[in-house]
Amino acid sequence: MIDLRSDTVTRPTAAMKQAMFDADVGDDVWGEDPTVNRLEAMIADLLGKEAAVFACSGTQSNQIGVRVNCQPGDELLIHSTGHIGVFEGGGPAVLSGVTVRQLNGPKGMLSVDLLKDQPRVDDQHYCRTRLVCLENTTNIAGGYVYSLSQLQDVSEWARRTGLRMHLDGARFFNATVAAGYSPEDVADCFDTISICFSKGLGCPMGSVIVGTAADMRMARRVRKMLGGGLRQSGIVAAAAIYALENHVDRLQVDHDNAQTLARGLAEIDGIKASAEETESNLVFFEIDPSLGTAVQFAAAMKEKGVRVGPMGGQRVRAVTHLDVSADDITTALRAVRDCMACGFSDQQLTGSGPYSK
Ligand SMILES: *Cc1c(COP(=O)(O)O)cnc(C)c1O
Repeated sequence: MIDLRSDTVTRPTAAMKQAMFDADVGDDVWGEDPTVNRLEAMIADLLGKEAAVFACSGTQSNQIGVRVNCQPGDELLIHSTGHIGVFEGGGPAVLSGVTVRQLNGPKGMLSVDLLKDQPRVDDQHYCRTRLVCLENTTNIAGGYVYSLSQLQDVSEWARRTGLRMHLDGARFFNATVAAGYSPEDVADCFDTISICFSKGLGCPMGSVIVGTAADMRMARRVRKMLGGGLRQSGIVAAAAIYALENHVDRLQVDHDNAQTLARGLAEIDGIKASAEETESNLVFFEIDPSLGTAVQFAAAMKEKGVRVGPMGGQRVRAVTHLDVSADDITTALRAVRDCMACGFSDQQLTGSGPYSK
């Protein structure tokens, strides 16, 4: 089975498992796990920040970020497609007492133009606008990559305006590899940054939040409160260290495969795809409604040994990652051509994930 539904489906390589097997461990809640400590120091150094805190998942590190930057009664501004507002179970409301204000704009991105009239005036009637959350790369908006100047513009405005900045960097290194900017330059634009190891970097689990030493002390407290204080978590931190050393540069391979896939899809009748709009490892395309729905298409593809992610209506997501080779892309394109030739409007798919409803 070629699984293009998500880059979360990657399985640890033999070398990564060996690194996990060999990890030195201790009790991380007591700060005594040498591997977790090494990972946190490595990532803080890489981003030019004072400290980092290892977390269980990207959802957890994002929600820690919201709690660290905000007080109950505050509000955060985010694009309407942003993960923190849509796919984290209402976490800001439940865990931080923070309301989410979603803004619309092109490519899942926020700009000073979109933001400049949004902060609420200081008046007892209003919640306090406190935080701007950006996503880079954007996920369901289309896998787009912010330029450094876009990030810097929003950041300078936010600082002038007294707002904090959080980056949902679930695919942080996809962005740095695609855009060619340094992790430190991106991190400079934000107070807190969340990065996932369980996506393109190929780890079984784990995320990190990065920021000032004071904010990371608070992050540690929030993590404990959320039940995310782990003990011998060096076992998984070792996978993250392995990934930072071995799986960052190779993200370019995923981006190249995504380009090949998008180009191939664009040539198939009944499919609307664009290599130009494909900026990272996420390929989005649309199925001609006369042929069936995205869910029906995904069901037919599954029969042919290729899994893709229906996103509702006609939209499909296909994600390249560590476990997808250039040959797999050729095979996947052949399966798509077969499906388009045979038709799929009679297909049914069960268990197709959160996006397809
Ligand atoms: C995957 C993802 C996350 C984290 O999700 P988890 O399921 O907690 O790993 C956060 N933000 C974005 C944009 C993501 O794609």
